[in-house]
Amino acid sequence: MRDAPVPVLGVTPARGLSSKESFVPSNIASLRLQAFQRQNGRCFYCSVSMWLQPPSELVATPSTSAGLHRLRCTAEHLIARSDGGRNIADNIVAACACCNSTRHKKKRPPSPAAYRQQVARWVLCRAWHHAWVYDLGLVHQCGIGPA
Ligand SMILES: [Zn+2]
Repeated sequence: MRDAPVPVLGVTPARGLSSKESFVPSNIASLRLQAFQRQNGRCFYCSVSMWLQPPSELVATPSTSAGLHRLRCTAEHLIARSDGGRNIADNIVAACACCNSTRHKKKRPPSPAAYRQQVARWVLCRAWHHAWVYDLGLVHQCGIGPA
């Protein structure tokens, strides 16, 4: 006889949750993966193709391996946890490590929309990522709203 909860998508339901709640993946890794898939693997801010596991063909090349960590997929809180943002799907997007860490280096991080506009301008000038990222076509069209 089995009493243990059945894991779903690698997530073991926490004790004390209702059966409906227990099937909602709540950990940050699951939310990051969901956002990655929802965004077709592209960064929320700069639209670069991100990775969950470092691509072996880029790791093996000295010219690309140096900046590869900047393209790692991270979970970005649209509303920061320090401002009350929660670990829920509506508050989590997938962002490359470069965009995520740079946004939060500022004492008062810009809003997601404002930051997206700033990053889009830098991307257009090929000033956001290493040159090889653009040369390999890893940066996709990112929307810039009307000036
Ligand atoms: Zn990015």
